Amino acid sequence: MQIEHYFARIGVDPLTAAFDDIPARGHGGRGMMSPGNEKNPKVGTFAEWGPKAFVENADAPFSLYLHTPYCSHRCSFCPFYINPGRPGFSGEYSAWLSREIDDTARVLEPHFGSRKITTVFFGGGTPSDLNRDDLAKIIRQLHERFPITDDTEITVEGRIRGFTAEKAKAWVDAGANRFSLGVQSTHTELRRKLGRLADRDEIRQILEGLYASGAVVIIDLIYGFPGQTPEMLEDDIRFVAEETNIHGLDLYELKQFPGSPLAKAIESGRFPPAPDRAERGRMFGAATDLLNKYGFEHFTRKHWRRSKRERSLYNRTATGANDLVPFGSGAGGRIGSYGISMHRTIEQYTESIARGEKPISSAMPMPPRPPVPSFRQRLSFTVEACALPALEHFPETHRASAQTILEQWEAAELLVPALPGEILNETAISYRMTPAGVFWAEHLQGLLTMFTSMPVPSAAR
Ligand code: SF4
Repeated sequence: MQIEHYFARIGVDPLTAAFDDIPARGHGGRGMMSPGNEKNPKVGTFAEWGPKAFVENADAPFSLYLHTPYCSHRCSFCPFYINPGRPGFSGEYSAWLSREIDDTARVLEPHFGSRKITTVFFGGGTPSDLNRDDLAKIIRQLHERFPITDDTEITVEGRIRGFTAEKAKAWVDAGANRFSLGVQSTHTELRRKLGRLADRDEIRQILEGLYASGAVVIIDLIYGFPGQTPEMLEDDIRFVAEETNIHGLDLYELKQFPGSPLAKAIESGRFPPAPDRAERGRMFGAATDLLNKYGFEHFTRKHWRRSKRERSLYNRTATGANDLVPFGSGAGGRIGSYGISMHRTIEQYTESIARGEKPISSAMPMPPRPPVPSFRQRLSFTVEACALPALEHFPETHRASAQTILEQWEAAELLVPALPGEILNETAISYRMTPAGVFWAEHLQGLLTMFTSMPVPSAAR
C-alpha cells in the first residue's frame, strides 16, 4: 500500500473536507455488551469462578454497573431500547435487582480486602423511570453491601420526562452524587420528532431541580439529526450555558442504526436526510468554539466541563481494564480475565435469580492483559484524551513512516505538536489534536490501527 492512503487533504477546511465522508460512529451504550454472546461456553457458576476472577486484581479499585432495561417511550434514534416501562415494573424489577445485589455481595465480600469502589453507574434504558423510593433503597443497599467511600462517584442516568426534583433529592440523600441526562436537543419540535416529549421549559425546570439536589449534573447533546442545523446546535449550547447550571456535557455525533424508527422515517421521506459529514464538521466546529467561549474545559474527547466537581470518573476508569461488576438484565462488565454478559430477557434474568444464580448469559475468558500496554491500548487512551502517542510507542518497523503520516496530518491542520516530554495516561505523546483532529479522531485512530497492522507502506511519491 502507498503511504498516501493514510494522508489527509491539504489546503481545504480540515473540519469539513480532510477526508471523504465516512459513516459516523458515535452514541454508544454504557456498560452494555453487544448481543450474540449467549452461545459461548459457560465456566461454571458465579459462586465457583467469581471469587477466583475477582482476586486477580486484588487491591485494585473497581466499579459497579447497574442496568435498567426499561423506557417509558422509545426514542426514534435509539438502538438500546428493550422493554416498555409498563405500570408496576419499578417495584418488580428493583426487587429482583436487590436480590441480585445481595447474592453477588455474598460471593465477593470475603475477597474485598482493601479494594474500594471508584464508580457506580446506573445506566439504561432509563433508570430515572424507577420510582423514587425503589431506587433510593437500591442505592442504600449498595452502600451497605459494597466498599463505597465518600469519594465514590455514583451516577444515575436518565431523561428529562419523569426525572423530578423529589427523585433527585431522595437519591442524593441515599448517596448518589451525579446525574447524567440524555437531553440530545433542546429544540422542542425536533425533540418531539425524536420521541422526546419534554419541551424547553420543562428541560430548564428539571435541570434546576436536579442542580438544587447538590449533585453534579451533566447532559448529553447529539449533533447530526435530520433537520438540525449548526445554528440549532449553537442555540442548544447557548441555552444550557446561559439558562442552566449544568456542570458538564457530552457531545455525540449521531450514529444511524439501520432499521431504527429514525432510519425508516428518513427512508420513507417523512424526515429529511441527516446532515452530511461536512455539515456535521461545521456543527462540531461551531459547538467547540462556543463551548470554549462559555468557559467549558474540553476534558475528554466527547466531554466538556465547567466545574472541577465534574470528574467523569466512570468514563475515564470503568471503561478501561478495571473490574466492572455488572447487575441487571442486559448489563455487561468484566471481572478479572472474564468478560460478562447478563441475560437480556427479563424472563431469563428473573428465572436465574430465582434459582439462586447470578443471571449471567455468558462469561468469556479474555486474553491476558499485557504487562506493558500495547500500541493499540496507548493509541486508544491517548485518542480519548485528544492526542496521539509518541513515535517511541509505535512498532519500531513503522516509526519512520508514522512520522511522515503524523507530519502530513499536522500540515492538514489536524494536529499540533505536543510540548516536549508531555505525558498522558503514562504514555508520552507526540501531537495534540486540533478541533478538526478531534472531529476526525475515530478515523485517525482507525487509520493508525490499520497502518500498524499492515506491512510498512511504500514511500510517498
Ligand atoms: S430513553 Fe435512552 S435508552 Fe430509552 S429509548 Fe430513549 S435513548 Fe434509548
